[in-house]
Amino acid sequence: MATQQYRSFVAGQWQDGGEPVALYNPSDLQDEVGVYMHAPVEVVNQAVRAAEAALDAWRGLHAMARSRLLDGIADGLVRRRDELALAIAREQGKPLRDALAEATRAADIFRYFASEAIRQKGYTYASIRPGVRVEVQRNPAGVVALVTPWNFPVVIPAWKTAAALAYGNTVVMKPSEIAPCGAWILADVMREAGLPAGVFNLVLGAGQAGAALVAHEAVAAVSFTGSVATGKRIAAAAAGKRIQLEMGGKNPLIVLDDADLDTAVACAIDGAFLYAGQRCTASSRIIVTEGIHAAFVERLLARTASLAVGHALDEATVIGPVVNAEQFEKNRRYAELARQEGGTVAGGRALSRPTRGHYFEPCLVTGLDNSATVCREEVFGPFACVLTARDYEHALAIANDTPFGLSSGLCTTSMKYAQHFKAHTKSGLASINTSTSGVDFHVPFGGNGASSYGPREQGEFAIEFFTTLRTVYIGD
Ligand code: NAD
Repeated sequence: MATQQYRSFVAGQWQDGGEPVALYNPSDLQDEVGVYMHAPVEVVNQAVRAAEAALDAWRGLHAMARSRLLDGIADGLVRRRDELALAIAREQGKPLRDALAEATRAADIFRYFASEAIRQKGYTYASIRPGVRVEVQRNPAGVVALVTPWNFPVVIPAWKTAAALAYGNTVVMKPSEIAPCGAWILADVMREAGLPAGVFNLVLGAGQAGAALVAHEAVAAVSFTGSVATGKRIAAAAAGKRIQLEMGGKNPLIVLDDADLDTAVACAIDGAFLYAGQRCTASSRIIVTEGIHAAFVERLLARTASLAVGHALDEATVIGPVVNAEQFEKNRRYAELARQEGGTVAGGRALSRPTRGHYFEPCLVTGLDNSATVCREEVFGPFACVLTARDYEHALAIANDTPFGLSSGLCTTSMKYAQHFKAHTKSGLASINTSTSGVDFHVPFGGNGASSYGPREQGEFAIEFFTTLRTVYIGD
C-alpha cells in the first residue's frame, strides 16, 4: 500500500515542514504505514494561539449549532469507519474487527456529546440575603490541551474532544507519536464537517511537543491519558491549570470458589489477553481462591494456548501483534523476570508468522505472590499472573494491595460477596461477572490512587473537568 504523509492541522490549515518520522505495521514490518511530520515548538505555539483566537466565537455559538456540528462529525466518522479501522489495524496492530468497533464507538461518542451540548445546565439558588438572587453558571474552561496514548488511537481522542467541544472549549490535541492515525483522520473529519478554523487543532510529535503544549500559558486545562511517569511530568509542568490524568493500572480479577467456571475463564481471557493486553483496564492479576484454583488454571491455560495470534488484517486473528519493538522487549523482559522471581511461565515467547512482526505469545504466570515485581508493575501486554487466595477476604486484601486503582473484577454467584466487593474494592471501575475491560461511554470512567487524578472522563460527568463554575449574585 502507498505511504501517506501526515501533517499537523492548525487554524484550519495543514502545516508544511517538520521532521519526517516513518511508522511501520507491527503485523508486517516491511509495510510502511505513514510518514508523520513532527511539528516544531513554533507550530505548537501557533496551534494554541489559533485555539485562543477561536474561543470566543465557539463558546458564544448557540448550543443547537454546536450540537449539529458534533452530529456532523459523528456522521463523518461513520462514513469513514472502514478507512479508520484499516488505518488503526495497520498502524497499531489491533485486529480489524476490534478496530472497526473502536471507530464505531468514536462516532457514537460524538453523537452522545452532540446532545450533551444542548443540555447545559446551571442552577439558581435563593440567597441567604434579602434582595439578592444567586445563579451558578457553568462556563467553558478555555483552551484545552488533550494528550493521548497509542492503545486506542481514535476513541480516546474522540471522548476527550467531543466533551471539550460540547461544553464550548477549543482544543489543541497531541496524539501519541506511536499511533497518530486515528487522531489525524478525526481532524480531517472535523475539517470536512465544517468545524470553524482554530476550534480543533492537531499537532503531531512526541514528548517534546506535548511538553511545550501542556506548559503553554494560554492553555487553561490539560486532559492526559498515558503512563504514570508522563502523568507526573505533566502534573508538574501544568501546575496551576486544570488537570485530568488517566494513567496505568494493575487490575485484579477475583475468582471465588462459587464462581461459574465458564464465566470466570471468559472474563480472564477477555480482560487479560484481548487487545493484546494493551488496555489500561486489563486484568493483570487474577486472584483465585483455593477450591477452584486447579480447575480454573487448567481451563485458563488451555484457552490461552488456543488463542489465535496473528496479522491484524487476518479474519481469524483474535490477538494481534504488540504495538512496537519496545513493547515487545518489555513483555519479554517481564516474562524473564517472572521466571527469575520463581514463577512458572506459560507462553511469553516470540511467535513467528508468515510476515515479520511483533508477535508475542500470551503469557500466564503462576506460582508467585503479590509481592513479585511482575504483580506490582504495569506490563501493558498479553501478560497476567494467577495468584492464590485462601478466601474472599484474603482475595480482596490482595486485590487492594496495589498503588493503582483503575479497574477490578469479581466472579462469584454470591450476592453477599458481590455487595461487599462493590463497597470495598478500591478502584474507580468495578465489574461483577464481566470483564474488567468492558466499559460504556455514557457513564464516568476513571480510577483512584496512582491510576487517575482529577475529575472523571466520559458521559455527563465530563462536564466537571471541561467547565468552570461561576457564582453570580444579582441584586433586585
Ligand atoms: P505515554 O505516557 O508514553 O505517552 C502518552 C502521551 O504523552 C503521548 O502522546 C506522548 O507523546 C505524550 N508525552 C510524553 N512525554 C510527555 C511530556 N513530557 N509532556 C507532555 N506529553 C508527553 O503513554 P503510552 O505509552 O502512549 O500509553 C500507555 C499508557 O497509557 C499505559 O500506562 C496505559 O495504562 C495508559 N492508559 C491509560 C488509560 C486510562 O484511561 N487510564 C487509557 C489508555 C492507556
